[in-house]
This record gives sequence, structure tokens and C-alpha cells, in this order.
Amino acid sequence: MRIAIGADHGGFELKQAIVSALPEVEFTDAGTFAADSCDYPDFADAVAEAVAAGKVDFGVLVCTTGMGMSMAANRFQNVRAALCRDAEDARIARAHNGANVLCLGQKRTDAATAVEILKAFVETPVDDAERHARRRMKLERAQRLSDFSVLAEADPEIYATIKAQVTQEDTEINLIASENTSSRAVRIAAGSVLMNKYAEGYPGKRWYSGCLPVDAAEDLARRRACELFGADHANVQPHCGSAANMAVYFATIRPGDTILSMSLDQGGHLSHGSPVNFSGKIYNIVPYTVDKTTEMLDYDAIERQALEVKPKILLTGASAYPRRIDFKRVREICDKAGCIMMVDMAHIAGLVAGGAHESPVPYADFVTTTTHKTLGGPRGGMVLCKEKWAKALDSAVFPGMQGGPLENIIAAKAVCFREWMSPEKKDYAQRVVANCKAMCKAVQDRGYRIVSGGTDNHLFLVDVKSTRGITGKDAAAALDNSGIVVNKNTIPYDTESPFKTSGIRVGPASITTRGMGEAEATLIGTWIADVLDDITNVKTQEEVKAKAKALTARFLVP
Ligand SMILES: *Cc1c(COP(=O)(O)O)cnc(C)c1O
Repeated sequence: MRIAIGADHGGFELKQAIVSALPEVEFTDAGTFAADSCDYPDFADAVAEAVAAGKVDFGVLVCTTGMGMSMAANRFQNVRAALCRDAEDARIARAHNGANVLCLGQKRTDAATAVEILKAFVETPVDDAERHARRRMKLERAQRLSDFSVLAEADPEIYATIKAQVTQEDTEINLIASENTSSRAVRIAAGSVLMNKYAEGYPGKRWYSGCLPVDAAEDLARRRACELFGADHANVQPHCGSAANMAVYFATIRPGDTILSMSLDQGGHLSHGSPVNFSGKIYNIVPYTVDKTTEMLDYDAIERQALEVKPKILLTGASAYPRRIDFKRVREICDKAGCIMMVDMAHIAGLVAGGAHESPVPYADFVTTTTHKTLGGPRGGMVLCKEKWAKALDSAVFPGMQGGPLENIIAAKAVCFREWMSPEKKDYAQRVVANCKAMCKAVQDRGYRIVSGGTDNHLFLVDVKSTRGITGKDAAAALDNSGIVVNKNTIPYDTESPFKTSGIRVGPASITTRGMGEAEATLIGTWIADVLDDITNVKTQEEVKAKAKALTARFLVP
């Protein structure tokens, strides 16, 4: 067993007594090593950091009363420090509260009692009875808000908005396919002091001094991105997915050149050439569509179109396409048409990272993505490319489009990429797809028409118009009243306006992140059908809302 131990001058003697009484324990002694006056937070910080980092099993902190030490240690995330006066305190702090740092007061506790307390502390397992687990979960849940408690005084109005968002995430079933729930580690990096640094340029070639820390962060982000996706080169500076797409256009083609891309109303994205977007204003956009009967990509038709219009770029990737994309086939088309292959994997990046969707990276010249959708990182963008494009891409981003990069967000991207290297996270990608299929089937089994007849990825589209004669707008509003959040979405060849739409888009990435599985996904699918069967039935909406609240209470949002 590994224990980190520390004390100030007021706890020095008791610390020495504990260490010598327990030779079988592997103590990491953070000091102090003499009885001279010193500052207790220094030792609390060292021990709490070791516990938070998982470097030791427990921490022990001693000062005159134990109170200063417990306050200092409890400022660290994932640390639960308990001041104990006897073995009974220690047993309860462990069993009920899951304490991982023991605080002792030299003035109150003699050496023999201290050793007895420590033994009780490390020998007592955390009690997983439902009521204790529930209360510990509430401690964790409170941290989602307490991370921001400094705002309660500094800016109560903004604090109220964060509190409202925390409550919303906790109590609603979020099925917005383009959203996810970032980890606390990602959020902490995103809110870090790295935001204070101006770093125009790239690691090692900056326009400002003092860039060593941010250089290291950005290097990690770039290297991890390349490792995770098997890419030659990564640019992690784009502020969002649209900016990532803009960077590729700027790096490769000229105003007026032709881009062949999926049209927005069929599942494409604004930045793929919508007339209201910069892309549609600057470039000559030729849209391709899905097949009218299968509602899937027809690669032969896209090939014919590419050979005819001779685009400079063939862009694949979508915001609302529920089927797998055959990147190998797209490469063949690009080779035949002699154009650049660009893939925007914003929606499916997490599935690609986890091996639940074939990767476009080996085939494409450029792969753009957001980092906040299935990937679950901070809100931002990224471009991966083949080595021969690296220079052109980097100068398109800076100085071409952006000034100083958001190094705090880049660090958060690095954290996210590291998370994806763990086997659990790879498994998460498979679970997202399994949950999506289960939920889709539950809705389909109730008679709803699913666009393309099903799903291969993290989202599905329900044609509520042809099934129930209602618009996507009204369907989404009824679900919102029921604690289920989806968005209205056009379906291929939609006859409704983009404001009303005939469909809704549903994606379970967020609920999968909070730990829900196929059983919950199926249940939620049946609730969606319950609500949509009669969107005027307010009683059903209230019942589903209550059920949604009870279900979400069991699944902690990270
Ligand atoms: C979401 C999305 C984007 C853009 O994302 P922003 O960060 O909102 O600019 C780009 N492409 C696709 C396919 C998307 O789904």
C-alpha cells in the first residue's frame, strides 16, 4: 500500500511517529523534515496532488488541529479529506463518504490513537449501499457547479446561467446528435491559464516570447492527433469546424473554383457551400444528393457528376447522414476526376477514433473535424492532412485566417485525444453505435419511418411528417416538453421549409457518455414514440418528463 504523508511543524512529531510505527507501509514523505515553522498548504498541496493523480492509494496530513490541512487538501479535485479523532470517525469517513485523505491533529490525538485511526481508515472499504452511493454521487454532482463557485460572487448573473446549464444537463435526456458531454479534465484545461498567452505562429516559431509552456501543449495536441488518427500532419488551431473547412479551401483553391459537396438540405453542412455561408459566396458550389429511394449516397451518380463538373475539391462528410461513408470508393472517384479529396468527419470523428467507423485519413488529402461532437472534447476544430499539404495548410490558418490560437482550447483538445487512447474510450464508440441502433429500432418498431430505413452510426432521422402528419418543429417541441431534447431536421427531398422540416435528428452520444446502455436507449425510444403518437397529449408529456427525470438521476454527467 502506498501512502503520501505530510505535516507542518505542528504535526511533525506525530507524522514521524506514524511512519516509524508502520514499517510495512510504503510512505511517500512530503515533509516537513524538521520542527521549524513552515506553511501547512505546501504539504497539503503535495499530498493532495499525489492522491488526485492516483500516484498513491491514500494521503495522510497532520497539523496542530488537522483543520487547516483538511481545508487545503479539499481544494483539490477528486480529494475527499476527512479530519478524524478516533477509529470510528475513520471508518465512517471511508465507508460513507469515500474519504481518501486522512487528516489528524497532533494536539488532539496521541501517536497510538493516530496509528489505530490510520489502520481503520485504510482497512475500511467504501460502502456501496445505494444510499451512500447516491450521496457520494451528489458530492460529485455538486462539483460540476462548485468548479465555478467563484462566479457566484464575481458575476452572479453568469453564474446563474451556468447553474441552469448544469441542471439542464443533469435532468434532461440530451439526444442532440452534434453534442456530447466533455469530461471534467477537458473543461478544466479549457478554462486554464493557458488562455492568457499570445502565441501567434506555431510551436518553435512564435511571434511572441514566453511560449515554452504553450509550445509544449500544442506539440502534444498535434502529436496525439497524428497518433490517434494515423495522420501525417495536424493543425489544431482552427477555432471551429467551419474555420477548419475554410482553412482547407484557402490552402488549396481560388475564389470561383468548383467544390462538389453534399447539399445542406440533404444532410451536408453550412460551410460546405450553402449560399448564405462564406463557402457558397466565394466558391462555385455544385451539390450532390442522396438517392431518392434508398436515401443513401449513390457513388456511381457522384462519380458521373464529378467527371462532368470537374471540381477542384470533392467534399464528403455530413451533419445528418445516418449511414457509413465508403471513403475508399470516394478516393477512386477523386483519382478519376483528378480532384482533391476532402472529408469533413465532424460528426463521426469519435466513431473513427474508436474504430466504429472506417477512417477517412488513409484516403483523403484533407480531413477536417470539430472536436466537440462524438469526439467529446472542447468546442473547436482541427485539420489533418497529408505531408505534402502541411505547409500550405499551416499558412492558411496562420497568418491566413486567424491571429493568436486558443492555447487553452488546444490543451483541452490534447486531453481529449489522450482520453481516446484508452481501451474504455474505444469501447465507448461501439456503445454509441449500439445505443443508436437500439433506440432507432424502438422508434421504428412503433411504426415510424426512419430515413434510409435505419442507421450505421451515431444518429438517425425520423420522418415524422409522413408517419404522423406533424412537422419536425412541432415534434421537437413536444419532446422538449417531455424532457427529451432533439432537433428538427430536414430529411432528403423535404417538402417542408427548413424552419418547420419533416424530420427530427436523434443521437445518443451524450447519454452514452453518462453511462446509459441499450436498455435505456430502447426505453427512451419508446418514450419518443409515446410522445409523438399524439403531440397534443400533455399528460403523456408530463409522464415522460417524470420518467426522464428519474432515469437521469441514476446517471452522473461527467
Ligand atoms: C458541426 C459541423 C461543422 C462545423 O462546426 P462549427 O464548429 O459549428 O463551425 C462542420 N462540418 C460538419 C459536417 C458539421 O457537422
